Amino acid sequence: MGLPGAGKGTQADKIIKEFDIPHISTGDIFRAAIKNETPMGLKAKGFIDNGELVPDEVTNGIVNERLAEDDTKDGFMLDGFPRNLVQANALDAMLAESDRQLDAVLNIDVNPEVLVDRLSGRFLCKNCGTAYHRLYNMPKVEGTCDVCGSHDFYQREDDKPETVKNRLSVNIEMNTPLVDFYNDKGILHTINGEQDIEVVYQAVQKVLTNI
Ligand SMILES: [Zn+2]
Repeated sequence: MGLPGAGKGTQADKIIKEFDIPHISTGDIFRAAIKNETPMGLKAKGFIDNGELVPDEVTNGIVNERLAEDDTKDGFMLDGFPRNLVQANALDAMLAESDRQLDAVLNIDVNPEVLVDRLSGRFLCKNCGTAYHRLYNMPKVEGTCDVCGSHDFYQREDDKPETVKNRLSVNIEMNTPLVDFYNDKGILHTINGEQDIEVVYQAVQKVLTNI
């Protein structure tokens, strides 16, 4: 778990490189279920084609189909699921059916204000489209595009601080009950995600090695 920009993807890549378990990301399994026309995939497609949100029971069904596959026998890592308590309870129930349970929930914690800076730093050259970032990738000469020399820059709607703040608060609202849910179960591990990527990963490794 973690807010957008917290570094979940980076840590997920490192985890599957070291631990021989499948990375089950909701986006990927949705695409696969639809492409392979599984029963739940076909249901999901119906909702998506009508421009409707896919209901929890269909999302749960797709995850359940994936968790029934052989490669999950020795463990797996979920990414992007569960997103709410209905899904979290459904997950517990599906795992219980095959005598399994979650061993750990990793929560990569970054102050939302830091995330606003990370996520809203992107801006583009109006003339040639080259992307820059206020924190990581400024033009060599301030106010001048490295590529075309233009002085005009702009931000995409998605990258503007207000949009980013809204996205984060929606996510905070969604995550908080889940964090509490897993904390109550005693399997939540909160990791300081404001540290260097390698230091964050050392903390992740420590949790996973212990289980
Ligand atoms: Zn340019």
